[in-house]
Amino acid sequence: MFTVNAYAATSATAPLAPTTVERREVGPHDVLIEIAYAGICHSDIHHARSEWGPQAYPVVPGHEIAGIVTRVGSEVTRFSVGDRAGVGCLVDSCRECDHCRGGQEQYCAKGVLTFGSVDGDGQPTQGGYSTHIVVTEDFVLSIPEGIDLAAAAPLLCAGITTFSPLRRWNAGPGARVAVVGFGGLGHMAVKFAHAMGAEVTVLSQSLRKQDDGLRLGADRYYATGDPTTFAELAGSFDLIINTVSAKLDLDAYLGLLAAEGTMVNVGAPAEPLSLNVFSLLTQGRSYAGSLIGGLVETQEMLDFSAEHGINAEIEIIPASAINEAYERVLASDVRYRFVIDTATLA
Ligand code: NAP
Ligand code: ZN
Ligand code: ZN
Repeated sequence: MFTVNAYAATSATAPLAPTTVERREVGPHDVLIEIAYAGICHSDIHHARSEWGPQAYPVVPGHEIAGIVTRVGSEVTRFSVGDRAGVGCLVDSCRECDHCRGGQEQYCAKGVLTFGSVDGDGQPTQGGYSTHIVVTEDFVLSIPEGIDLAAAAPLLCAGITTFSPLRRWNAGPGARVAVVGFGGLGHMAVKFAHAMGAEVTVLSQSLRKQDDGLRLGADRYYATGDPTTFAELAGSFDLIINTVSAKLDLDAYLGLLAAEGTMVNVGAPAEPLSLNVFSLLTQGRSYAGSLIGGLVETQEMLDFSAEHGINAEIEIIPASAINEAYERVLASDVRYRFVIDTATLA
C-alpha cells in the first residue's frame, strides 16, 4: 500500500477537506495513473451527501479521471508508461456474467464503482479527487491524442452517459432530439446529438445559457419556465434525454414526445418520480433509463470525440475550490463542468 493526497467528504453535511488515502501496490494486471484532472459530476454530490442512501465515510468522490500512466504491472499489455489514460465510473466487474461478456459491465451485479464500492481486497474504493489511482488495465481507457486532457476528463462519465442512450435510441439524421437540463451531462448530449446528425433542442429552465447552447450545437433553445413552451412543442420529439438532477413533472415532458417516442432518464434525483400512465398509453410512448456505458462503448465514445473534435466545456479549479464548485453546480451555475487540477493536491 502507499499513501496519496486526496479530498474527501467526512460526513453527509461536512464540507470536503484534504485527507490521504491508501492505494494498493501495482499488481501484475494493474496500471498506476498519476491523475492530472478529475471532473466534478453531480453524482459526486448526491453520493457525498448520502442523498442516494447512507454512505461509509470518508468518501473521496471522482469518476471522471484523466492522467498519465506512471507504472504498469508485469502482465499489462495495453498500456505503457507515459500513456494518456482515463478512468470512469467502474474499476472492476465479474467479467463472467452475460452483462460483462456483452460489454455492459455497468449492469454487472458484482461491478465495482470507482468510489463508494468495496474492491476485491475488501477495501473501500476511493475516487479521483486524489493524486494517483491503481486500476486493473481492463478498466482503463485510452485518451486519444488531440483531446485536451483536462477537457477529456468529463467524457469518462458525462460523455459516455449521454453518448450511450443517443446511440441506443438512434439519434441521427432525421431524429428530433430534446435535451432537458443544460449542465454537465446536458451540454455533452447536445454536442454528441449534433455530431450524430440529429436536430437538437435544449429545454432549460431559462434562456440564460441560450447563446452557449446554440454555439455548442443546438438548433433551438427553449425555457421550460415559460408556460407557452410546452404547448408550442407538444408531440414534437422522437427522443428526449432528461439529465435533470431534481424532481420533474414527467407528464409535461412526456407530452412533448411524438407517437412512439422515448424519454430516457439519465438524471438520478434522490426523490421518486411519478407519472400518469396515460402520458405513455395514448401515443405508445416509452419511458426508459440508462446508466453510463460499458468499457468498449466508452472507448468508442472517446474515439468518436477525437474524430469530431468534441470535448467538455470546462472550468479548471484548485482542490481548495471544490466546496464552492459544489454550491455552484447545485445552483445550475456550472459552465459546463468543473475539473479539479489535481496538482493542487500535492
Ligand atoms: P448538472 O451539471 O448539475 O446538470 C443538471 C442540470 O439540470 C442543471 O444544469 C439544470 O439545467 C437542470 N436542473 C437542475 N435542477 C433543476 C430543477 N430543479 N428543475 C429543472 N431543471 C433543473 O448535473 P450533471 O452532472 O449533468 O448530472 C445530472 C444528473 O445525472 C444527476 O442527477 C447525476 O447524478 C445524474 N447522472 C446519471 C448518470 C447515469 O449513468 N445515469 C451518470 C452521471 C450523472 P438548466 O439550468 O439548463 O435548467
Ligand atoms: Zn458521473
Ligand atoms: Zn459481470
